[in-house]
Amino acid sequence: MIEIKHVSKWYGTTQVLDDCSTDIAHGEVVVVCGPSGSGKSTLIKTVNGLEPFQKGEIIVDGVSVGARDTNLPKLRARIGMVFQSFELFPHLSVTQNLVLAQVKVLGRSQEEAAARAVSLLDRVGLRAHQDKFPGQLSGGQQQRVAIARALAMDPVAMLFDEPTSALDPEMVNEVLDVMVDLASEGMTMMVVTHEMGFARKVADRVIFMDMGKIVEDCTKDEFFGDLEARSERARLFLSKIL
Ligand code: ADP
Ligand code: MG
Repeated sequence: MIEIKHVSKWYGTTQVLDDCSTDIAHGEVVVVCGPSGSGKSTLIKTVNGLEPFQKGEIIVDGVSVGARDTNLPKLRARIGMVFQSFELFPHLSVTQNLVLAQVKVLGRSQEEAAARAVSLLDRVGLRAHQDKFPGQLSGGQQQRVAIARALAMDPVAMLFDEPTSALDPEMVNEVLDVMVDLASEGMTMMVVTHEMGFARKVADRVIFMDMGKIVEDCTKDEFFGDLEARSERARLFLSKIL
């Protein structure tokens, strides 16, 4: 589903991605972790064309992200992205947040989009809040709306960049629970997170990044179960967060 091949990126003369390669199969859940500044956000943003890269190739569902003739808005519509900050439209109701892009980008009718919105809000447990505005919701609720909004576009894959790190601790699990459900339904997911409980529960693979490089790319069992075989940087990182 997602092929990342020898991707390198520089900001000016500073290299932020260094020959990164990995493949994410249909239905696979890959957790990306690593120290701050290691390139996790940059890597995940290259996948849906939010960040250009100078070397290598990324292919999502058969479409080359970096190719000049690729229709990026169309590609982006097919890849759901959820950020640390919820980025909902503050002046639109919860339902309208979910309806807008369905109508504008996918050309769905208002009725069809609203029906899809309601069913997704049901799924994330927020149907009762459909007419509220984002500012009237808790952070955890807003993030669940953001996930539902991404799902409304029927994405082929979902990218998450630290979706719970801006939340108060008591709200982390309600968001992770939605993500666990998604994973168990077979969604292809690339998740930047330091929630190792989530990784243990649903990840098929764990990628560890350091200084722009993919240092570890292994199964969850290898990552957590065979620490001796991990790189020194990965062990140090795990010793700080586990
Ligand atoms: P992470 O998500 O792992 O914390 P990032 O992908 O955000 O790391 O950043 C990787 C590196 O790229 C960092 O050294 C950061 O300072 C640098 N960087 C990120 N965005 C920019 C930018 N717009 N201009 C210059 N450097 C940047
Ligand atoms: Mg980041």
